[in-house]
Amino acid sequence: MHSRTPRPALPALLCAAALGLAGCSAGGTDPAAAAGGDLRVVASFYPLEWLSQQVAGDRATVTSLTPPGAEPHEHELTPQDVAAVSEADLVVYLPTLQPSVDEAVEQQAAGTAFDAGAVADLDLVYTDDHGDEHGDEHAADDEPAGPDGAVTDPHFWHDPLRMAAVGEALAEQLGRADAANADVYTANAAGLRDQMEALAAEFRAGLATCASRDVVTSHSAFGYLADAFDLHQVGISGLAPDEEPAPSALTDATAFVREHGVGTIYFETLVSPAVAETVARETGARTRQLDPIEGLTDESQGSDYPALMRANLASLRAGQQCS
Ligand SMILES: [Zn+2]
Repeated sequence: MHSRTPRPALPALLCAAALGLAGCSAGGTDPAAAAGGDLRVVASFYPLEWLSQQVAGDRATVTSLTPPGAEPHEHELTPQDVAAVSEADLVVYLPTLQPSVDEAVEQQAAGTAFDAGAVADLDLVYTDDHGDEHGDEHAADDEPAGPDGAVTDPHFWHDPLRMAAVGEALAEQLGRADAANADVYTANAAGLRDQMEALAAEFRAGLATCASRDVVTSHSAFGYLADAFDLHQVGISGLAPDEEPAPSALTDATAFVREHGVGTIYFETLVSPAVAETVARETGARTRQLDPIEGLTDESQGSDYPALMRANLASLRAGQQCS
């Protein structure tokens, strides 16, 4: 699942040993090495790892700070991870999602960090602590996070068009770090945009006519999906998955499900389904998987970002009874 382009360390070493021999300056047989590529890109978690791989193609080695199966919000970096951050040519991350990464970037990579959130237009703000019906209000342009505990929603990757925009900005950044391959990065980002526009069109068509537009989820990871495709997210937990949400959050969610006749509660990979199951048991609703796409696991319904998005679309179409 996590294929990596091997770094051409061996040809480089052989070349160094053979200094002065004709043909050595070609830099071995690896085209990336020959072109002066092979940037080291460190992404903070899976969606940004996938995005970086799409844009960098074979011109960079992309690794992730969050291993498969780990829940990224609470993930703590090891000393080796922090070293990788400091040695990377580019660190692709999303501020506020992973405090441990924010700290490492601030201390080790201030000059080499790419803030995906800065170009993703993060305009969703939650005004309370468990993402209920107030949670989908747009932020005022001049006030990204209000003074009364409001927090910006970082989960932009559920909107394919925001992914495309971040890919284009990332291509520019890669092109500045590796000018010889700038055209390659631009072309890769254009290909990514085509893919993302096709994906968004599938979502628009698939979710056009549904019996319910209220989507009750475990944690509030789907705000940008709801915003892009005219759904209404009701997150039982807040922006970070919480194994034990406040009793009031469960009571509020249960009341909402009863009041609106919601038939499906979505649980997720990487987090215990107990929260969703509690509300489902209380209300007689069914449960169904919806993947926050925060990391790959053995239970993932696909092997990469587009496959997981399409699995989510199928799950939503069934759960929301879309025609
Ligand atoms: Zn999340």
